[in-house]
Amino acid sequence: MENNLARDEFIVRFWGVRGSIPTPGSSTIRYGGNTSCVEMHVGGQRLIFDGGTGLRLLGKSLKPHLDTSTHIFFTHYHWDHIQGVPFFFPVFDEDTHFTIYGQVPNEGEPMLMRQHFRQRVLHLDSPVPVADIQAQIDYHDLVCGEIFKLGDIAIETAPLNHPNGAMGYRVSWQGHTAVYCTDTEHLPDRLDENVLHLARDADILIYDAMYTDEEYHNEKSPKVGWGHSTWQEGVKVSEAAGVKQLVVFHHEPNHSDDFLDEMAVEVSNIRPGTVLAQEGMILSLTKTAVKPH
Ligand SMILES: [Zn+2]
Ligand SMILES: [Zn+2]
Repeated sequence: MENNLARDEFIVRFWGVRGSIPTPGSSTIRYGGNTSCVEMHVGGQRLIFDGGTGLRLLGKSLKPHLDTSTHIFFTHYHWDHIQGVPFFFPVFDEDTHFTIYGQVPNEGEPMLMRQHFRQRVLHLDSPVPVADIQAQIDYHDLVCGEIFKLGDIAIETAPLNHPNGAMGYRVSWQGHTAVYCTDTEHLPDRLDENVLHLARDADILIYDAMYTDEEYHNEKSPKVGWGHSTWQEGVKVSEAAGVKQLVVFHHEPNHSDDFLDEMAVEVSNIRPGTVLAQEGMILSLTKTAVKPH
C-alpha cells in the first residue's frame, strides 16, 4: 500500500517513553509524560511498537488516506502499553489498514489475537465504542521466539522477564538493527540470554531501565520482582551484546526532568553515546545519529 515514507531510511521516533502511568505536569515536560509508544520507519514501512498514550499523538501525525498500511506490535497488554489504542484516530477510518501483532497471554480462556484485542484490549469499559472501529484490521498471532519477515525486514521475537510475560522485538533491515526491549527485569545471577540474543550487535537497544540500581535494591522499598530493570543493567547487557547505542526507556513516573538529566550524565559517563528516550526524539540508523562507541 502507498505511503509517504522514504524507502532508504531506518529511523526510530519516540512518542511515549514513560512507564506505568502517564505523568503530565511541569516536572516531566522535557522527557514527556506519555506511556510507551515507539515508531520505526524501515525501508518505507511503518512499524509501531506498543499503544501507550503516546499512540494518540502518533495518530494525529498521520495523514488520512495516505498512511494506509501500518503494522502495530504489542509487547504485552499492561495499561501503559495499550491505553492509547481507543484514541488512535486512524482506527475509525474505514480506508485505513492495520496489521496487529502480538502474543495472547496464556491465562484464562484460550483465544486468538483478534478476540483478545477486541474483548480485552478494547473491552466493554473502553470509553470508545468498539463498534465504531471501522479500519480494516488483520491480526497476526505471534509465539515468543518466532522469527518472520515483513518484505525485506527481518523481525525476531524473544520472551522477556515480566509479570504475565512480555515479548521483545529485534528489527533488522539492510544491515541495520533496532531492538525494542521493554518491559523486562534482569536476572539476579546472570545476564538474560534472551535479551543478549535479541540485542546482539544491534545499532540501537531500547531498554527498560525504569530504576536506578539504588532504587532497585533499596532496603525499605525494593523493586525486585516488579518486572523492570535498571540503567546499570542496561549498560552491562549492551556491553556484553556489542550494542552500539543504548537508549534508556520506560522512565519511572516519579523521575522528574531534573532527575533524568542527572541520570543521563551518569550513564553517558559510563557508556558514551547512551541517550535517555525523550518524547519527540528521532534516531536514524541510516544517517549519522548512531555513534559507534
Ligand atoms: Zn510498562
Ligand atoms: Zn508491563
